[in-house]
Amino acid sequence: MFDKSISAYDEACKVIPGGVDSPVRAFKSVGGTPPFIQRGEGAYLFDVDGNKYVDFVQSWGPLIFGHCDKDIEEAVIQTAKNGLSFGAPTELETQLATEIVEMYDYIDKVRFVSSGTEATMSAIRLARGVTGKNDIIKFEGCYHGHSDSLLVQAGSGMATFGAPSSPGVPADLTKHTLLSEYNNIENLKKCFENSSDIACIIIEPIAGNMGLVPASDEFLKVCRELCDEHGALLIFDEVMTGFRASLKGASGILKTQGDIITFGKVIGAGMPVGAFAASKEIMGHLSPEGTVYQAGTLSGNPVAMAAGLTSLRKLKSNPEIYETLNAKAVKLVSGLKEVAIKNNIGLQVDTRGSMFGFFFADKVPTNFKEVSEFCDFQRFGKFHHEMIKKGFYFACSQYEAGFMCTEISDEDIEACISAADEIMKNL
Ligand SMILES: *Cc1c(COP(=O)(O)O)cnc(C)c1O
Repeated sequence: MFDKSISAYDEACKVIPGGVDSPVRAFKSVGGTPPFIQRGEGAYLFDVDGNKYVDFVQSWGPLIFGHCDKDIEEAVIQTAKNGLSFGAPTELETQLATEIVEMYDYIDKVRFVSSGTEATMSAIRLARGVTGKNDIIKFEGCYHGHSDSLLVQAGSGMATFGAPSSPGVPADLTKHTLLSEYNNIENLKKCFENSSDIACIIIEPIAGNMGLVPASDEFLKVCRELCDEHGALLIFDEVMTGFRASLKGASGILKTQGDIITFGKVIGAGMPVGAFAASKEIMGHLSPEGTVYQAGTLSGNPVAMAAGLTSLRKLKSNPEIYETLNAKAVKLVSGLKEVAIKNNIGLQVDTRGSMFGFFFADKVPTNFKEVSEFCDFQRFGKFHHEMIKKGFYFACSQYEAGFMCTEISDEDIEACISAADEIMKNL
């Protein structure tokens, strides 16, 4: 029943490395062949073999209204008819920027880019430009895209300068990145002892790239204090959580404020959009107002802006969506937990707004090392594979979060839980 996907994958592998344009899509950590998608509709994905899935990935977050939302579709089509790109300013950019700025008390200006990777890369350059410092602190397990200085792994130990985690990244670039353990205050303090040249901390305040692992309030407070004490800036990478965790992103449910916020995913509603934002003082350092260079031929692309704008306006005029989405997420994970307990399987679950996570583990992990140590990856792989066969499409790695959209119904969720019950009997 996956015959066409299997041959599509073989064909793809001949002309695309590993058959995919982003490694996680190859299903390496769960095994099997990735279904090749033909189309989406609301809550569902349809693959080339005609299989239908309830989609709990939603393009890794962007599609909060599910596939083919009529309003977004209409906005994209109408805008596209006026031309796809001009490389000149349009009013749509101002409108989308205004929607974003209005959500955060401490943000005045936004610059649009075309991906989350670009957003974080540019935010770090800005932080370095503003502070005149060079080093950055990143946490193990947080993902901020694939730019050179962020592809680091522990070098001589934690709280010290990282080593490249990928060939092709010069050690000369990662030597400015200190790697610290998430939710570990002592470790973070050591970073500031090991360098007096720290420009910024970059953090996912609610991490969604090692599974769903929120930072504690206490930890974020210390991040803030250490930055203030040492003249560094705090970058909240909200590429995933922005307009997902709440209408005001992670920042809407946390007590701590960042200095620079990065966005992506939901603000493009499925089109390639990223952004970074801060106070007018900080953003004033950016070219052409200031001297920190940053640019993009397709940045602020009108069709992408129209998609994001429609999506954000819909969210703003229906703020109760987040409660509804969270109720669905809670229904899903508490249902999964219930059948896991019934089948004697350790499962840790959590939600933040429309995001959810579950770990096949007996204890709640609070950082990357614990996720790696506590979780049964083999069990997850088998679960994932069997769920796909039953028509439920979860992220293909234990290190990824799940995403609820408005189109997933209570019936979809109930069907998912009873499918999980069946599968867990033999897990
Ligand atoms: C997805 C993601 C990125 C990278 O965004 P791309 O659009 O894939 O480049 C950066 N940060 C976080 C937190 C993300 O979830």
